[in-house]
Amino acid sequence: MRCPFCHAQDTRVIDSRLASEGDQVRRRRECGACGERFTTYENAELIMPRLVKSDGTREPFDERKLRTGMLRALEKRPVATEAVEAAINRIKKRLQASGEREVPSRQLGEWVMDELRELDQVAYVRFASVYRSFEDVSAFREVIEGLEKPSNTDKPDNG
Ligand SMILES: [Zn+2]
Repeated sequence: MRCPFCHAQDTRVIDSRLASEGDQVRRRRECGACGERFTTYENAELIMPRLVKSDGTREPFDERKLRTGMLRALEKRPVATEAVEAAINRIKKRLQASGEREVPSRQLGEWVMDELRELDQVAYVRFASVYRSFEDVSAFREVIEGLEKPSNTDKPDNG
């Protein structure tokens, strides 16, 4: 793999470990030319359903877009990157487990909100406010009330 700093091809793996509850391999690499270190994440590539948007158009599931949206909501919040990656992996599993070839993007949005509610309540409200655009006060109240209810997501045991 090329070094992202100097683009030399001479990089080597100095550490390799499982991440995100075992769904990823995290590798530390070191460039032989400039000595910089960087991290790569390796994921199994699985077939994801396409998303059906509210206007009926279809688009492929885009993990980068999902991550960007979640990280925007989590900006400056005390949540570990590992926890965000684990949440993204759980969302991907739910997409696959749906067994459908197409999933409404609205459903994906609900799953993201489930995860954010567990990770950080401020991020959850931020995401929900953009996602549902809070057209009226009752929609906002619904989200705030949702914070007080226990979520229905099953957390896997670590171990
Ligand atoms: Zn380099």
